[in-house]
Amino acid sequence: MLMVENNECDSVWKLTAGAEDSYPELEGDTRSDVVIVGGGFCGLSAAIHLVEAGCSVAVLEANVVGWGASGRNGGQVIPGLKLDPDDLVSLYGPQQGEALVDLTGKGPDLVFSLIDRYAIKCDARRTGWIQLAAGPNRLKAIISRVRQLQERGADINSLDQKQVQQYTGSTGYIGGLIDARGGNVNPLAYVRGLAKAAKANNVEIYIQSRVASLQQESGLWIAHTQSGRVMADKALLCTNAYTDEVWPKLKRTVIPFVSGAVATAPLPNDLRANILKEGQAAADNSRLLSWFGLDRDGRLIFGGRTGSWSETNNPSDYENRVERMHQVFPQVKGIPVERYWSGKVALTTDSLPHIYELRKNLYAGLGFNGRGVAMATLMGKLLAQRCIDANQPVFPSSDFKPIPMHALRKPLVQAVVHWKKVLDRVHP
Ligand SMILES: Cc1cc2nc3c(=O)[nH]c(=O)nc-3n(C[C@H](O)[C@H](O)[C@H](O)COP(=O)(O)OP(=O)(O)OC[C@H]3O[C@@H](n4cnc5c(N)ncnc54)[C@H](O)[C@@H]3O)c2cc1C
Repeated sequence: MLMVENNECDSVWKLTAGAEDSYPELEGDTRSDVVIVGGGFCGLSAAIHLVEAGCSVAVLEANVVGWGASGRNGGQVIPGLKLDPDDLVSLYGPQQGEALVDLTGKGPDLVFSLIDRYAIKCDARRTGWIQLAAGPNRLKAIISRVRQLQERGADINSLDQKQVQQYTGSTGYIGGLIDARGGNVNPLAYVRGLAKAAKANNVEIYIQSRVASLQQESGLWIAHTQSGRVMADKALLCTNAYTDEVWPKLKRTVIPFVSGAVATAPLPNDLRANILKEGQAAADNSRLLSWFGLDRDGRLIFGGRTGSWSETNNPSDYENRVERMHQVFPQVKGIPVERYWSGKVALTTDSLPHIYELRKNLYAGLGFNGRGVAMATLMGKLLAQRCIDANQPVFPSSDFKPIPMHALRKPLVQAVVHWKKVLDRVHP
């Protein structure tokens, strides 16, 4: 099996993202107000919001900009969190719950406003985001979500089977919703654009610069890489599913889950005229969900859980994706599949992202549960605000609670996945 754990991810986005800017590796010592670990949406959004507020910032990325999930995801700009608004209100109470619903529902506004503000060329389309019902019970959940969001003024509507077919070109779903607040982007081009904007604002970005340790000395945070150090008043950890040993037990707050996708050759015009013809991207709400969209050249991208528990480019690990794509879109049988890639999603036990204040002036934000295009960008802004003003009531810091028995996560996740597969077959 071809493992890509520390190598190149063969995502379709590379074909259309344009050239990658160059950044140096950290050599020697440098000083900044804030040091950020991780060069994805979260770290770069934090960097931009911090320099906009007048701070000096250094970003340290172990690989290259967007190497993590940010450069290899589905590009779906999804409003809100996994939990329904009413659930958030039950969890946090009316005032804070409603504030969270409002804040996270505006995640796409932040993404598209950054794209506008910095003229980021990333094939951005704000044509709405579609969620599809995997079966009758799942449709009830969608209808309830639509009602809850409509009551709060969101521009969201349910879709019947015929409308789903008109939008997507698939007869495989009995209904769904369209949320006008969402959209899609080429995520690799978006994350590279964030880096370019940060660099233009004098953020120091260092690639191939893995932070081996973070230590506090004389009130400063010192991030050590193999060939240098950044000394800063404050530090942010923005490493999500790729969190390593940089801070004790932080990686034990999330469960990394491999998700992947295939992309076909560009569809011929007759198929493009019917499949996602208005440019939306979509995901279903089955227990092991599938998601799909088109890139700007009309390649059909179809993602979800692959046949492997590790990141891989091996086509044989993607048979389940191709099979499901052909069930949803029988009309694309015969169109060659040209790309296979995967990455890690950070799951949390409560399906919520978290901010942790690990020590004074040291924060982490992670756990985006497959909704990080908008949410990790928003988290970056929240972390930046946290550096500027530690008191941030809307999105409170969580107690630092590593998941018990984290060492057993692989067999436990495998068991859960098998169980969900069975349930999806028996009770779609
Ligand atoms: C296949 C797939 C499809 C997805 N589809 C969608 C989607 O359509 N819509 C959506 O909203 N979300 C989606 N997601 C989730 C989304 O991509 C992530 O939530 C988001 O990219 C997280 O951004 P981030 O900046 O927090 O982390 P990442 O982009 O993963 O960046 C973390 C970075 O930290 C670096 N790093 C780690 N340790 C260190 C260290 N010690 N020193 C320096 N650097 C370090 C890594 O190299 C990495 O580049 C998907 C994820 C995957 C894997």
